[in-house]
Amino acid sequence: MSLSHGPATLAIPGPSIIPDRVLRAMHRPAPNIYAGALIEMTHTIVPDLKAVARTRHHAVMYVGNGHAAWEACLANTHSRGDLVLVPATGLFGNGWAAIARGLGLEVEVMDFGKRTPMDPDRIAERLAADTQHRIKSVLAVHVDTSTSIRNDIPAIRAALDEAGHPALLQADCIASMGCDVFEMDEWGVNVAITGCQKGLMTPPGMSFVFYDDRAAAARAGADCVTAYWDWTPRTDPDRFYQYFAGTAPTHHLHGLRTALDMLVHEEGVEAAWHRHGRLARALWAAFEAWAHPDGIGMNVVDRAHRSHAVTALRLDGAATRLREWCTDEMGVTLGIGLGMADYDDPRWHDFFRLGHMGHLSGHSLMGTLGAIQTGLTALGIPHGPGALDAAASALAAEG
Ligand SMILES: *Cc1c(COP(=O)(O)O)cnc(C)c1O
Repeated sequence: MSLSHGPATLAIPGPSIIPDRVLRAMHRPAPNIYAGALIEMTHTIVPDLKAVARTRHHAVMYVGNGHAAWEACLANTHSRGDLVLVPATGLFGNGWAAIARGLGLEVEVMDFGKRTPMDPDRIAERLAADTQHRIKSVLAVHVDTSTSIRNDIPAIRAALDEAGHPALLQADCIASMGCDVFEMDEWGVNVAITGCQKGLMTPPGMSFVFYDDRAAAARAGADCVTAYWDWTPRTDPDRFYQYFAGTAPTHHLHGLRTALDMLVHEEGVEAAWHRHGRLARALWAAFEAWAHPDGIGMNVVDRAHRSHAVTALRLDGAATRLREWCTDEMGVTLGIGLGMADYDDPRWHDFFRLGHMGHLSGHSLMGTLGAIQTGLTALGIPHGPGALDAAASALAAEG
């Protein structure tokens, strides 16, 4: 007899849980796109997006998912044959590299494996060796969603500065923005990108590129850009249709407006970072207590390098069984492992992930942890004791 009746919980690392208010804001008839309220409302979204990215510079919107933002930022800053350096810590760094190759860029991947962050010293060495300044951008994924490694973006800026290297620093914040601390201007990031469906709590379909004046200067010489991807007309446009180079994603804009009300104006970006930090520390306390040589292990050992938005886990031979049991019996959907083993490899079943980005409360997190505890018990998966107590103590210890 299944217990998965009543409200279900989605705990995958994107799309994240959509607040009911966001869904309600989208439930409306099609609006006029030539004049009126939609246009006024859209203008108010741009400053709030900048508040989330912590930038005074420029923000543009695209109809498209995170892959669209990957392509948009590169197309606006590069010409065919440019060399870009991609320090990779999982599937998403390699995914961005593939988009760069598709645009005709020369791509050098520095692979840092799947369990440890980028090493800024190795990046600094590589930049120092590039005396001709052939490298035009460093493409750094802030939080790689496949491994849940959080990379030290200010350290990569320091590596560039130390080498006196003029390459642009571009950061993929699709998983992290609104959850993990990110300061575009303070950290010296030239281009940052995100999507709407993770920390921004809106159904998938929009993405955002933030760029500073150095990146705007690179746009002037970029030959990869086409009329559709060009960020120039999309920035502070004279005509409404230029925001999206065509019809606006009308209902997404209403949903996003409400999500930004919640994140920027009601909770506050810093308070949201703090909430995700507290929830993540409680979650880590549970998984550290469950850890067992024949059971669950966390992918990232050092707390300092773990994301506050997503957690990658190993559970040899039993991850798929646990996920399916939690969905079928408890109404909690956990994320599949990504980038750890190929789909047709039996080891694919050794990995899973937990998404804890966006619209997540203390009770929702504790419910998910309780479902996992129940699944481990029901399936006879070896695990250490006291995980739920450890999570409760961690939440209770911080105000
Ligand atoms: C989700 C994600 C992407 C890809 O976004 P899509 O919307 O699936 O195209 C890229 N990078 C990171 C870090 C992500 O978390």
